[in-house]
Amino acid sequence: MASVLLLKNAEVYSPSFLGKKDILCLEGKVAKIGSVNSSHLDGLEIPYDVLDLEGMFLLPGLLDPHEHLIGGSGEAGYASRSPEMTVPEIVRGGITTVVGCIGVDTFTRNIHSLLAQAKFFNEEGLTAYIWSGGYSVPPPTLTGSIKSDLILVNEVIGAGEIAISDVRSSQPTLPEIARIVSQAYVGGMLTGKAGVTHFHLGEGKYHLQPLFDLLANYDVNATSLYPTHINRNPQLLKEGAAITHSGVTIDFDTCDGDLIPSLKSFIEHEGDLNFLTLSSDASFTSPSFLFEQIKEAMKVFKWSLEKILPLVTTNTARILQLRTKGYIGPGADADLVAVDRTTLEIIHVVAKGKLFIKDGKSVYNQRILESSNRKIEIYGKKK
Ligand code: ZN
Repeated sequence: MASVLLLKNAEVYSPSFLGKKDILCLEGKVAKIGSVNSSHLDGLEIPYDVLDLEGMFLLPGLLDPHEHLIGGSGEAGYASRSPEMTVPEIVRGGITTVVGCIGVDTFTRNIHSLLAQAKFFNEEGLTAYIWSGGYSVPPPTLTGSIKSDLILVNEVIGAGEIAISDVRSSQPTLPEIARIVSQAYVGGMLTGKAGVTHFHLGEGKYHLQPLFDLLANYDVNATSLYPTHINRNPQLLKEGAAITHSGVTIDFDTCDGDLIPSLKSFIEHEGDLNFLTLSSDASFTSPSFLFEQIKEAMKVFKWSLEKILPLVTTNTARILQLRTKGYIGPGADADLVAVDRTTLEIIHVVAKGKLFIKDGKSVYNQRILESSNRKIEIYGKKK
């Protein structure tokens, strides 16, 4: 059965503003933007869903390049391990494409489990990739090397999160780092995937210096490097703004709720906004914390959706080389988020043409519950 969804009267940010349009989605793709006469669809005598988006903005689904899909490591003993991410949690934040990673614990949080979790999300209708590796070098892989992981496993998009400038890193040497970057690059070249190396930056004293050294002394492309947690401290922010002018795309995580001061510093240091992305780094905080802070930042900086959306759509799709993601246009994946035009509250979320949130409520049924009477509950209070 064909899957057909018609969105009427949407004010579309693609992320550039396209005006008021109808959007026809067929088989998970955007087939047409413009005026669509539903009587023509009636004539086809196939079932289709219609949503009237009067009073709403329609945005591309967000891309989150850094999420701990199988939970966070737990750095204060076993009771501090965080549980796996769920589909409703992710889509509630307007996120429809996610890249999963492993953090400091590469032993009990292993890459095979991460791959299985990404496959689960993909089967359910989201788009999920994984970084091959983790904090440590040599990186834990699925098939023996970063390059063969990229070649053999669809979900592997690059190497990461490789820890540098951090007391928890394996203190990799520059030649070791360069070899990982080139393995990921070649794996990406052969498969048409991004093949970038996603670096975790810590509080270590060398900050971004290893990446500046890599660019200066090795045959490494700036577009192969993708460091995150750049908003961790003032020196990283300063160096991060500078490295964007070498063509390196950097990422801010939003798990500490500091997007506004981080953006302020980035602008003060004249960083290039075309080379900045945002991630949730969700494991202890919810993936939706990302969009919450985007809304706050828009108010504080008086930024339009056109200005801020690229940080979670087109910029991310470019560095990850996801050609059908991050924009609304014919041929793009039908990953769409409808928000209230006044409050920017998320009202509907569509991933690959399938509705996950409708009228603010989850309409997703986890398949396992069809044969289960489990009720999964979690309690807690953020201090
Ligand atoms: Zn990290």
